[in-house]
Amino acid sequence: MRLIVGLTGGIGSGKSAASQWFEQQGICVVDADIVAREVVEAGSPVLAQLVAAFGDWVLLDNGELNRRALREHVFQDNAARQTLNSITHPAIRQSIIQQLEQATSPYVILVSPLLFESQQNQLTSRTLLIDASVELQIARASQRDGQSLEQIQSIIAAQMSREQKQNLADDIVLNDGELAHLYTKLRPLHLHYLALSEQ
Ligand code: ADP
Repeated sequence: MRLIVGLTGGIGSGKSAASQWFEQQGICVVDADIVAREVVEAGSPVLAQLVAAFGDWVLLDNGELNRRALREHVFQDNAARQTLNSITHPAIRQSIIQQLEQATSPYVILVSPLLFESQQNQLTSRTLLIDASVELQIARASQRDGQSLEQIQSIIAAQMSREQKQNLADDIVLNDGELAHLYTKLRPLHLHYLALSEQ
């Protein structure tokens, strides 16, 4: 069995920056966010299931998923959210497993903002948390996406708290300096994972 490292962190913590560094070291990275978009692509069976469950209004004119309409629909409707999750989550999980199996590097990284929340950590051998203060998360995410403070705060509020993630993670990297500093902290972990993958 190939070693699978689950990489997580709140919005703006530096997950993408860290996973890009691992990719540069030749490590295959499976991104749960990308998989989640792929499984509902126009013409996909999962998208057809969503239309069957909710109606045609979940589609845009070009046949793609109307994410905003669906997001707003499930926002305060728990039953609708459960229906959505029961359709998408198994497909996402299946596709993640397939992509992890196709990896060719000594170990593979599964990057997911909701690694613990959606139990995707069950697919991993160990977990790495990219950690940052809420202030830094907000500063970085607002600079990257131009999202409002309220939007970023509501995303942070919906994610598991920093402390909970710290308790669950096997490895923690505090991303509170420059990017070069982050990379310096990642290198010994990369070497450790390589060593573990040879056992
Ligand atoms: P996440 O994927 O966790 O949401 P990103 O890796 O996209 O976060 O980081 C958010 C933004 O902050 C990006 O624009 C990224 O380049 C920047 N960033 C991340 N870490 C640092 C750092 N240590 N120093 C400066 N900018 C950073």
